[in-house]
Amino acid sequence: MRGSVKLFNIFGISINIHVTFLFLLVFFFLGGIRWLVLVVGVFCFVTLHEICHSLMARYYGIEVRQITLYPIGGVASMSSIPEKPVQEFFISIAGPLFNLAVVVIFYIPIKSLLGPEVLFHRPLSAATWPLTLSYLYWINLMLAVFNLIPAFPMDGGRVLRSLLAGKIGYGKATKIAVGLGHIFAVVFAYFGIINYNIILVAIAVFIYTAASNEGRLADAIEAWKKFKIGE
Ligand SMILES: [Zn+2]
Repeated sequence: MRGSVKLFNIFGISINIHVTFLFLLVFFFLGGIRWLVLVVGVFCFVTLHEICHSLMARYYGIEVRQITLYPIGGVASMSSIPEKPVQEFFISIAGPLFNLAVVVIFYIPIKSLLGPEVLFHRPLSAATWPLTLSYLYWINLMLAVFNLIPAFPMDGGRVLRSLLAGKIGYGKATKIAVGLGHIFAVVFAYFGIINYNIILVAIAVFIYTAASNEGRLADAIEAWKKFKIGE
């Protein structure tokens, strides 16, 4: 991956970090050591989320050679695309399920460790070490909920396509997930603009573009399949 630096290998998968992410680290470091720990912690959870996708893909015989971490999330590069809807379903759901499992498994331990006042303190912040830990815990719920939104390019979009593909076909199912991605991006952009939140607008643009790319990729695969059948 261009512009990325290799960090380490795990399960034979190279974990890379994109240079833009290094700038983010410097930026958060200016906010203090707890913000830096928070960002590093978040990306550990993002990496584990991607590793879960990767291990499920490997189970179906799809090789994953690298995971690249971007400021907006992680991307696992797969050697091929899951052929069967059931494979796409389990590969896509494995990541968000990992984050949900963290939320469920650690709920009682972290509540007894921090106390309900710190755990349910709002807004989330890194003002103290206990609050930072609480933030890191809730990040998992946010990652699970965000990724389960049934629209491209989120994992939920892939889950939706895999569920619909058997009934209405791969092409139509993809169009629905892409369309939902576009609608979701427009809603995100609207809230970004009325709240003067430039980050939200940037995420909206990213989601819109990535959803369109998913659609084009699916079209290319369909065309290739027809070409192979026509051979
Ligand atoms: Zn994911």
